[in-house]
Amino acid sequence: MQFEPNDADLRITELARSAARDHLAPRAMQTDAGVFPAENIGALGSIGLLGIKIDRHYGGLGGSNLAYVLAIRELAAQCASTTVAVAVTNMVADMIARFGTDDQKVRHLRNLVSGAYQAGSFALSEPGAGSDAASLQTRAERRGDDWVLNGTKLWITSGDVAGVTLVMAKTDPGKGGRGITAFLVEPGTAGFSVGRHEEKLGLLGSSTVSLAFEDVVVPDAARIGAVGQGFEIAMTALDGGRCGIGAQASGMGYTALRETSRILSARAGQDKALGTDQNAQFRLADMAVRLDAAWLLVQRAAWLRDQGSKMTKEAAMAKVAASEAANFACQTAMQLAGPDAFDAGSTIARVWRDVRVSRIYEGTSEIQRLVIARSLAAAL
Ligand SMILES: Cc1cc2nc3c(=O)[nH]c(=O)nc-3n(C[C@H](O)[C@H](O)[C@H](O)COP(=O)(O)OP(=O)(O)OC[C@H]3O[C@@H](n4cnc5c(N)ncnc54)[C@H](O)[C@@H]3O)c2cc1C
Repeated sequence: MQFEPNDADLRITELARSAARDHLAPRAMQTDAGVFPAENIGALGSIGLLGIKIDRHYGGLGGSNLAYVLAIRELAAQCASTTVAVAVTNMVADMIARFGTDDQKVRHLRNLVSGAYQAGSFALSEPGAGSDAASLQTRAERRGDDWVLNGTKLWITSGDVAGVTLVMAKTDPGKGGRGITAFLVEPGTAGFSVGRHEEKLGLLGSSTVSLAFEDVVVPDAARIGAVGQGFEIAMTALDGGRCGIGAQASGMGYTALRETSRILSARAGQDKALGTDQNAQFRLADMAVRLDAAWLLVQRAAWLRDQGSKMTKEAAMAKVAASEAANFACQTAMQLAGPDAFDAGSTIARVWRDVRVSRIYEGTSEIQRLVIARSLAAAL
Protein backbone atom coordinates (compact mmCIF):
# COMPACT_ATOMS: atom_id res chain seq x y z
CA MET A 1 0.00 0.00 0.00
CA GLN A 2 1.62 3.20 -1.20
CA PHE A 3 -0.31 6.38 -0.68
CA GLU A 4 2.45 8.94 -0.82
CA PRO A 5 1.12 11.93 -2.82
CA ASN A 6 2.70 12.38 -6.26
CA ASP A 7 3.68 15.72 -7.83
CA ALA A 8 0.20 16.31 -9.24
CA ASP A 9 -1.41 15.59 -5.84
CA LEU A 10 1.02 17.99 -4.18
CA ARG A 11 0.29 20.75 -6.73
CA ILE A 12 -3.44 20.48 -5.99
CA THR A 13 -2.75 20.47 -2.24
CA GLU A 14 -0.67 23.63 -2.58
CA LEU A 15 -3.36 25.27 -4.71
CA ALA A 16 -5.91 24.53 -1.96
CA ARG A 17 -3.56 25.67 0.80
CA SER A 18 -2.91 29.04 -0.82
CA ALA A 19 -6.57 29.56 -1.74
CA ALA A 20 -7.57 28.73 1.84
CA ARG A 21 -5.01 31.20 3.17
CA ASP A 22 -5.83 34.00 0.69
CA HIS A 23 -9.61 33.69 0.43
CA LEU A 24 -11.15 31.48 3.13
CA ALA A 25 -9.16 32.56 6.20
CA PRO A 26 -9.79 36.33 5.84
CA ARG A 27 -13.55 35.74 5.49
CA ALA A 28 -13.92 32.94 8.04
CA MET A 29 -15.47 35.20 10.70
CA GLN A 30 -17.87 36.82 8.22
CA THR A 31 -18.89 33.39 6.92
CA ASP A 32 -19.38 32.14 10.48
CA ALA A 33 -21.79 35.05 11.01
CA GLY A 34 -24.12 33.20 8.65
CA VAL A 35 -23.14 34.68 5.29
CA PHE A 36 -23.11 32.15 2.43
CA PRO A 37 -19.52 32.26 1.15
CA ALA A 38 -20.31 33.13 -2.47
CA GLU A 39 -17.01 34.98 -2.99
CA ASN A 40 -15.02 32.02 -1.71
CA ILE A 41 -16.93 29.68 -4.00
CA GLY A 42 -16.24 31.98 -6.96
CA ALA A 43 -12.54 32.10 -6.14
CA LEU A 44 -12.29 28.31 -5.75
CA GLY A 45 -14.29 27.74 -8.95
CA SER A 46 -11.93 29.96 -10.91
CA ILE A 47 -9.00 27.65 -10.08
CA GLY A 48 -10.75 24.28 -10.49
CA LEU A 49 -11.27 23.36 -6.83
CA LEU A 50 -14.99 22.73 -7.33
CA GLY A 51 -14.10 19.89 -9.68
CA ILE A 52 -10.94 18.43 -8.23
CA LYS A 53 -11.45 15.00 -9.83
CA ILE A 54 -13.23 16.26 -12.93
CA ASP A 55 -11.55 16.09 -16.32
CA ARG A 56 -9.72 19.24 -17.44
CA HIS A 57 -11.95 19.28 -20.52
CA TYR A 58 -14.75 20.47 -18.20
CA GLY A 59 -12.56 22.88 -16.25
CA GLY A 60 -11.65 20.47 -13.46
CA LEU A 61 -8.22 19.53 -12.16
CA GLY A 62 -8.27 15.87 -13.23
CA GLY A 63 -6.97 14.99 -9.78
CA SER A 64 -6.98 11.79 -7.77
CA ASN A 65 -9.10 10.93 -4.75
CA LEU A 66 -5.95 11.33 -2.68
CA ALA A 67 -5.51 14.88 -4.01
CA TYR A 68 -9.17 15.48 -3.18
CA VAL A 69 -8.81 14.63 0.52
CA LEU A 70 -5.54 16.54 0.77
CA ALA A 71 -7.21 19.63 -0.73
CA ILE A 72 -10.37 19.34 1.37
CA ARG A 73 -8.29 19.10 4.54
CA GLU A 74 -6.49 22.34 3.62
CA LEU A 75 -9.76 24.17 2.95
CA ALA A 76 -11.47 22.90 6.11
CA ALA A 77 -8.51 23.97 8.22
CA GLN A 78 -9.53 27.57 7.42
CA CYS A 79 -13.31 27.49 6.84
CA ALA A 80 -15.50 24.43 7.24
CA SER A 81 -18.68 26.23 6.11
CA THR A 82 -17.15 26.90 2.71
CA THR A 83 -15.67 23.42 2.56
CA VAL A 84 -18.97 21.61 3.03
CA ALA A 85 -20.46 23.45 0.03
CA VAL A 86 -17.31 22.71 -1.97
CA ALA A 87 -17.37 19.03 -1.01
CA VAL A 88 -21.01 18.51 -1.99
CA THR A 89 -20.44 20.30 -5.31
CA ASN A 90 -17.44 18.07 -6.01
CA MET A 91 -19.55 15.03 -5.10
CA VAL A 92 -22.39 15.94 -7.46
CA ALA A 93 -19.92 16.72 -10.27
CA ASP A 94 -18.21 13.39 -9.64
CA MET A 95 -21.52 11.50 -9.94
CA ILE A 96 -22.39 13.28 -13.20
CA ALA A 97 -18.92 12.45 -14.54
CA ARG A 98 -19.31 8.78 -13.54
CA PHE A 99 -22.96 8.09 -14.35
CA GLY A 100 -24.15 10.97 -16.55
CA THR A 101 -24.82 10.96 -20.27
CA ASP A 102 -22.68 13.11 -22.56
CA ASP A 103 -25.53 15.64 -22.73
CA GLN A 104 -25.75 15.82 -18.92
CA LYS A 105 -21.99 16.33 -18.68
CA VAL A 106 -22.10 19.13 -21.24
CA ARG A 107 -25.12 20.72 -19.58
CA HIS A 108 -23.86 20.67 -16.00
CA LEU A 109 -20.18 19.96 -15.48
CA ARG A 110 -18.66 23.26 -16.59
CA ASN A 111 -21.31 25.19 -14.70
CA LEU A 112 -20.68 23.22 -11.52
CA VAL A 113 -16.91 23.28 -11.74
CA SER A 114 -16.54 26.96 -12.65
CA GLY A 115 -18.84 28.09 -9.86
CA ALA A 116 -21.40 29.47 -12.33
CA TYR A 117 -23.95 27.29 -10.52
CA GLN A 118 -22.61 28.40 -7.10
CA ALA A 119 -23.10 24.86 -5.83
CA GLY A 120 -24.51 21.44 -6.49
CA SER A 121 -26.72 19.71 -3.95
CA PHE A 122 -27.40 16.10 -3.08
CA ALA A 123 -30.92 15.25 -1.94
CA LEU A 124 -31.19 11.85 -0.31
CA SER A 125 -32.38 12.43 3.29
CA GLU A 126 -36.04 12.83 4.15
CA PRO A 127 -38.13 13.15 7.29
CA GLY A 128 -37.84 9.64 8.76
CA ALA A 129 -35.34 8.42 6.14
CA GLY A 130 -31.81 9.54 7.03
CA SER A 131 -29.91 6.56 8.41
CA ASP A 132 -32.31 4.21 6.66
CA ALA A 133 -32.06 6.03 3.34
CA ALA A 134 -33.50 3.13 1.34
CA SER A 135 -36.87 3.75 2.99
CA LEU A 136 -37.21 7.17 1.35
CA GLN A 137 -40.71 8.13 0.23
CA THR A 138 -40.21 10.67 -2.55
CA ARG A 139 -41.91 9.21 -5.63
CA ALA A 140 -41.08 9.54 -9.30
CA GLU A 141 -43.78 8.23 -11.63
CA ARG A 142 -43.42 7.77 -15.33
CA ARG A 143 -45.76 9.82 -17.49
CA GLY A 144 -45.03 9.35 -21.20
CA ASP A 145 -41.51 10.65 -21.85
CA ASP A 146 -41.43 12.47 -18.52
CA TRP A 147 -41.23 11.73 -14.80
CA VAL A 148 -43.38 13.35 -12.12
CA LEU A 149 -41.73 13.84 -8.71
CA ASN A 150 -43.55 14.26 -5.40
CA GLY A 151 -42.06 14.36 -1.92
CA THR A 152 -39.95 16.25 0.61
CA LYS A 153 -36.21 16.26 1.25
CA LEU A 154 -34.69 17.42 4.52
CA TRP A 155 -31.34 18.86 5.62
CA ILE A 156 -30.08 19.50 2.10
CA THR A 157 -26.77 21.35 2.01
CA SER A 158 -26.82 24.28 -0.47
CA GLY A 159 -30.28 23.19 -1.66
CA ASP A 160 -31.38 26.83 -1.96
CA VAL A 161 -28.40 28.05 -4.00
CA ALA A 162 -27.54 25.00 -6.11
CA GLY A 163 -27.71 25.15 -9.90
CA VAL A 164 -28.51 21.46 -9.97
CA THR A 165 -29.74 18.97 -7.37
CA LEU A 166 -29.16 15.24 -7.53
CA VAL A 167 -32.46 13.81 -6.24
CA MET A 168 -33.11 10.23 -5.23
CA ALA A 169 -36.72 9.08 -5.67
CA LYS A 170 -38.63 5.80 -5.59
CA THR A 171 -39.69 4.61 -9.00
CA ASP A 172 -40.65 1.13 -7.82
CA PRO A 173 -41.69 1.22 -4.13
CA GLY A 174 -41.96 -2.55 -3.93
CA LYS A 175 -38.25 -3.02 -4.59
CA GLY A 176 -36.70 -1.14 -1.62
CA GLY A 177 -33.24 0.23 -2.47
CA ARG A 178 -33.41 -1.33 -5.95
CA GLY A 179 -36.51 0.73 -6.68
CA ILE A 180 -34.72 4.08 -6.36
CA THR A 181 -33.76 6.21 -9.37
CA ALA A 182 -31.69 9.41 -9.50
CA PHE A 183 -32.66 12.65 -11.26
CA LEU A 184 -30.98 15.98 -11.94
CA VAL A 185 -33.43 18.73 -11.05
CA GLU A 186 -32.78 22.40 -11.82
CA PRO A 187 -34.07 25.42 -9.89
CA GLY A 188 -37.04 27.10 -11.48
CA THR A 189 -38.66 23.81 -12.45
CA ALA A 190 -42.39 24.20 -11.72
CA GLY A 191 -43.38 22.65 -8.38
CA PHE A 192 -39.80 22.50 -7.05
CA SER A 193 -39.39 24.81 -4.06
CA VAL A 194 -37.13 25.55 -1.13
CA GLY A 195 -38.70 25.23 2.32
CA ARG A 196 -37.32 25.75 5.80
CA HIS A 197 -33.79 27.06 6.37
CA GLU A 198 -32.31 25.13 9.28
CA GLU A 199 -30.84 27.13 12.13
CA LYS A 200 -27.77 25.17 13.10
CA LEU A 201 -25.23 25.00 15.92
CA GLY A 202 -22.29 25.14 13.52
CA LEU A 203 -21.39 25.46 9.83
CA LEU A 204 -23.31 28.70 9.99
CA GLY A 205 -22.17 29.93 6.58
CA SER A 206 -23.45 26.79 4.88
CA SER A 207 -27.13 26.81 4.05
CA THR A 208 -29.17 23.73 4.90
CA VAL A 209 -32.77 23.57 3.70
CA SER A 210 -35.73 21.36 3.04
CA LEU A 211 -36.88 20.90 -0.54
CA ALA A 212 -40.42 20.22 -1.72
CA PHE A 213 -41.44 18.47 -4.94
CA GLU A 214 -45.05 18.95 -5.91
CA ASP A 215 -45.87 17.39 -9.28
CA VAL A 216 -42.43 18.35 -10.57
CA VAL A 217 -42.18 17.24 -14.20
CA VAL A 218 -38.73 16.44 -15.55
CA PRO A 219 -37.87 14.83 -18.88
CA ASP A 220 -36.38 11.35 -19.01
CA ALA A 221 -33.16 13.11 -20.09
CA ALA A 222 -32.90 14.36 -16.46
CA ARG A 223 -32.67 10.78 -15.18
CA ILE A 224 -29.07 9.93 -14.29
CA GLY A 225 -28.09 6.27 -14.47
CA ALA A 226 -30.52 3.47 -15.16
CA VAL A 227 -33.99 3.15 -13.65
CA GLY A 228 -33.40 1.47 -10.27
CA GLN A 229 -29.73 2.52 -10.09
CA GLY A 230 -30.27 5.53 -7.82
CA PHE A 231 -29.33 3.85 -4.55
CA GLU A 232 -26.11 2.54 -6.07
CA ILE A 233 -25.32 6.08 -7.26
CA ALA A 234 -26.05 7.47 -3.80
CA MET A 235 -23.85 4.88 -2.09
CA THR A 236 -21.03 5.45 -4.61
CA ALA A 237 -21.29 9.17 -3.86
CA LEU A 238 -21.17 8.49 -0.12
CA ASP A 239 -18.10 6.25 -0.36
CA GLY A 240 -16.23 9.26 -1.75
CA GLY A 241 -18.16 11.72 0.40
CA ARG A 242 -17.17 9.93 3.59
CA CYS A 243 -13.49 10.31 2.67
CA GLY A 244 -14.27 13.99 2.19
CA ILE A 245 -15.95 14.28 5.61
CA GLY A 246 -12.94 12.54 7.14
CA ALA A 247 -10.69 15.12 5.48
CA GLN A 248 -12.90 18.02 6.59
CA ALA A 249 -12.90 16.78 10.16
CA SER A 250 -9.12 16.28 10.04
CA GLY A 251 -8.62 19.84 8.82
CA MET A 252 -10.60 21.20 11.77
CA GLY A 253 -8.93 18.84 14.26
CA TYR A 254 -5.43 19.90 13.20
CA THR A 255 -6.49 23.55 13.42
CA ALA A 256 -7.62 22.94 17.01
CA LEU A 257 -4.27 21.28 17.78
CA ARG A 258 -2.21 24.09 16.23
CA GLU A 259 -4.27 26.83 17.84
CA THR A 260 -4.09 25.23 21.30
CA SER A 261 -0.31 24.80 21.02
CA ARG A 262 -0.01 28.44 20.00
CA ILE A 263 -2.16 29.70 22.87
CA LEU A 264 -0.42 27.55 25.48
CA SER A 265 3.04 28.52 24.21
CA ALA A 266 2.17 32.19 24.33
CA ARG A 267 0.78 31.76 27.84
CA ALA A 268 3.84 29.88 29.12
CA GLY A 269 6.29 32.31 27.55
CA GLN A 270 8.94 31.59 24.94
CA ASP A 271 11.34 29.86 27.31
CA LYS A 272 9.02 27.32 28.77
CA ALA A 273 6.81 26.85 25.74
CA LEU A 274 4.88 23.70 26.58
CA GLY A 275 7.81 22.29 28.50
CA THR A 276 6.55 22.29 32.06
CA ASP A 277 2.87 21.53 31.90
CA GLN A 278 2.71 17.77 31.66
CA ASN A 279 -1.08 17.70 31.61
CA ALA A 280 -1.04 19.88 28.49
CA GLN A 281 1.81 17.90 26.94
CA PHE A 282 0.02 14.58 27.35
CA ARG A 283 -3.28 15.89 26.06
CA LEU A 284 -1.71 17.58 23.03
CA ALA A 285 0.15 14.35 22.32
CA ASP A 286 -3.12 12.39 22.50
CA MET A 287 -4.72 14.83 20.08
CA ALA A 288 -1.80 14.44 17.65
CA VAL A 289 -1.80 10.63 17.87
CA ARG A 290 -5.53 10.29 17.23
CA LEU A 291 -5.54 12.86 14.43
CA ASP A 292 -2.57 11.28 12.63
CA ALA A 293 -3.96 7.74 12.95
CA ALA A 294 -7.31 8.86 11.55
CA TRP A 295 -5.72 10.89 8.77
CA LEU A 296 -3.81 7.80 7.63
CA LEU A 297 -7.15 5.94 7.38
CA VAL A 298 -8.61 8.79 5.30
CA GLN A 299 -5.66 8.68 2.90
CA ARG A 300 -5.86 4.89 2.68
CA ALA A 301 -9.55 5.00 1.75
CA ALA A 302 -8.94 7.68 -0.91
CA TRP A 303 -5.98 5.75 -2.30
CA LEU A 304 -8.05 2.54 -2.52
CA ARG A 305 -10.70 4.46 -4.48
CA ASP A 306 -7.93 5.60 -6.82
CA GLN A 307 -7.01 1.93 -7.36
CA GLY A 308 -10.62 1.20 -8.32
CA SER A 309 -10.99 -1.07 -5.27
CA LYS A 310 -14.20 -1.51 -3.31
CA MET A 311 -13.60 0.68 -0.26
CA THR A 312 -16.97 1.03 1.47
CA LYS A 313 -15.62 -0.41 4.74
CA GLU A 314 -12.45 1.69 4.58
CA ALA A 315 -14.43 4.86 3.85
CA ALA A 316 -16.63 4.14 6.88
CA MET A 317 -13.53 3.53 9.02
CA ALA A 318 -11.97 6.77 7.78
CA LYS A 319 -15.10 8.76 8.51
CA VAL A 320 -15.76 7.38 11.97
CA ALA A 321 -12.09 7.63 13.01
CA ALA A 322 -11.48 11.12 11.66
CA SER A 323 -14.75 12.62 12.86
CA GLU A 324 -14.28 11.19 16.35
CA ALA A 325 -10.58 12.13 16.53
CA ALA A 326 -11.38 15.67 15.41
CA ASN A 327 -14.25 15.98 17.89
CA PHE A 328 -11.89 14.78 20.62
CA ALA A 329 -9.27 17.30 19.50
CA CYS A 330 -11.70 20.23 19.44
CA GLN A 331 -13.20 19.27 22.80
CA THR A 332 -9.73 18.95 24.36
CA ALA A 333 -8.65 22.24 22.78
CA MET A 334 -11.62 23.98 24.37
CA GLN A 335 -10.64 22.65 27.80
CA LEU A 336 -6.90 23.35 27.52
CA ALA A 337 -7.19 26.82 26.06
CA GLY A 338 -10.02 27.66 28.45
CA PRO A 339 -11.42 31.19 28.28
CA ASP A 340 -9.36 32.04 25.19
CA ALA A 341 -11.24 29.29 23.39
CA PHE A 342 -14.64 29.95 24.93
CA ASP A 343 -14.64 33.45 23.43
CA ALA A 344 -17.40 33.23 20.83
CA GLY A 345 -15.18 34.69 18.10
CA SER A 346 -12.23 32.37 18.67
CA THR A 347 -11.03 29.87 16.09
CA ILE A 348 -11.33 27.04 18.60
CA ALA A 349 -14.95 27.97 19.37
CA ARG A 350 -15.73 27.92 15.64
CA VAL A 351 -14.16 24.53 14.92
CA TRP A 352 -15.66 23.11 18.14
CA ARG A 353 -19.14 24.00 16.79
CA ASP A 354 -18.41 23.14 13.17
CA VAL A 355 -16.82 19.75 13.77
CA ARG A 356 -19.73 18.23 15.71
CA VAL A 357 -21.83 17.44 12.67
CA SER A 358 -19.06 15.36 11.10
CA ARG A 359 -20.24 12.54 13.40
CA ILE A 360 -23.78 12.92 12.06
CA TYR A 361 -24.01 13.73 8.36
CA GLU A 362 -23.30 11.39 5.45
CA GLY A 363 -24.06 8.58 7.88
CA THR A 364 -23.77 8.82 11.65
CA SER A 365 -20.94 7.17 13.59
CA GLU A 366 -23.36 4.37 14.50
CA ILE A 367 -24.17 3.73 10.85
CA GLN A 368 -20.45 3.68 9.94
CA ARG A 369 -19.94 1.04 12.65
CA LEU A 370 -22.80 -1.02 11.20
CA VAL A 371 -21.22 -0.79 7.73
CA ILE A 372 -17.86 -1.90 9.13
CA ALA A 373 -19.36 -4.76 11.15
CA ARG A 374 -21.36 -5.99 8.14
CA SER A 375 -18.22 -6.09 5.99
CA LEU A 376 -16.38 -7.97 8.71
CA ALA A 377 -19.20 -10.51 8.83
CA ALA A 378 -19.28 -10.79 5.02
CA ALA A 379 -15.54 -11.51 4.98
CA LEU A 380 -15.87 -14.56 7.30
C1 LIG B 1 -25.79 20.06 8.67
C2 LIG B 1 -26.35 18.88 7.94
C3 LIG B 1 -26.22 18.82 6.56
C4 LIG B 1 -26.77 17.74 5.87
N1 LIG B 1 -26.65 17.71 4.50
C5 LIG B 1 -27.30 16.73 3.81
C6 LIG B 1 -27.32 16.73 2.38
O1 LIG B 1 -26.72 17.61 1.74
N2 LIG B 1 -28.01 15.76 1.73
C7 LIG B 1 -28.68 14.77 2.40
O2 LIG B 1 -29.29 13.94 1.75
N3 LIG B 1 -28.67 14.73 3.76
C8 LIG B 1 -28.01 15.68 4.47
N4 LIG B 1 -28.02 15.66 5.86
C9 LIG B 1 -28.77 14.61 6.54
C10 LIG B 1 -27.86 13.61 7.27
O3 LIG B 1 -27.15 12.82 6.37
C11 LIG B 1 -28.75 12.82 8.22
O4 LIG B 1 -29.14 13.72 9.25
C12 LIG B 1 -28.04 11.63 8.84
O5 LIG B 1 -27.81 10.66 7.86
C13 LIG B 1 -28.84 11.02 10.00
O6 LIG B 1 -30.12 10.73 9.60
P1 LIG B 1 -31.40 11.22 10.44
O7 LIG B 1 -31.26 12.70 10.58
O8 LIG B 1 -32.63 10.71 9.83
O9 LIG B 1 -31.18 10.61 11.88
P2 LIG B 1 -31.72 9.20 12.40
O10 LIG B 1 -31.53 8.17 11.35
O11 LIG B 1 -33.09 9.40 12.94
O12 LIG B 1 -30.70 8.92 13.58
C14 LIG B 1 -30.90 9.39 14.94
C15 LIG B 1 -29.96 8.60 15.84
O13 LIG B 1 -30.29 7.20 15.79
C16 LIG B 1 -29.15 6.44 15.42
N5 LIG B 1 -29.53 5.32 14.58
C17 LIG B 1 -30.38 5.32 13.52
N6 LIG B 1 -30.46 4.08 12.99
C18 LIG B 1 -29.65 3.28 13.73
C19 LIG B 1 -29.30 1.89 13.67
N7 LIG B 1 -29.81 1.08 12.75
N8 LIG B 1 -28.44 1.41 14.60
C20 LIG B 1 -27.91 2.24 15.56
N9 LIG B 1 -28.21 3.56 15.65
C21 LIG B 1 -29.06 4.08 14.74
C22 LIG B 1 -28.27 7.40 14.65
O14 LIG B 1 -26.91 6.99 14.65
C23 LIG B 1 -28.50 8.70 15.42
O15 LIG B 1 -27.67 8.70 16.54
C24 LIG B 1 -27.43 16.71 6.57
C25 LIG B 1 -27.55 16.77 7.96
C26 LIG B 1 -27.02 17.84 8.65
C27 LIG B 1 -27.15 17.87 10.14
